[in-house]
Amino acid sequence: MKNLIDQDLFLADLKEYRETVDDDHRLAELYTIDQALNIALDQPVVDAEPVRHGRWLKDPHSQVGFPEFVYMMRKCSECGHSWGNVTPYCPWCGSKMDGKR
Ligand SMILES: [Zn+2]
Repeated sequence: MKNLIDQDLFLADLKEYRETVDDDHRLAELYTIDQALNIALDQPVVDAEPVRHGRWLKDPHSQVGFPEFVYMMRKCSECGHSWGNVTPYCPWCGSKMDGKR
């Protein structure tokens, strides 16, 4: 699995750091920072969103079946939709149902 970083935040941090170095006596350091900025701008970018984590909760208000056999639906901890199956991702909000916070 590749690790992704937020290009906008990375560039903002580099530019902020560059401001602290803005001294004509440190041209080599400024050059290095500018090179890092150019390298960062040349990197491929992807549209990504942070992973939402959730878990399936028992939903006592959503039961189906006969009195002899009652099946309790599950509810997404993130969006609240009820669902009869325990799946790795919530089909409504896309949360990864691994229980992590
Ligand atoms: Zn959900």
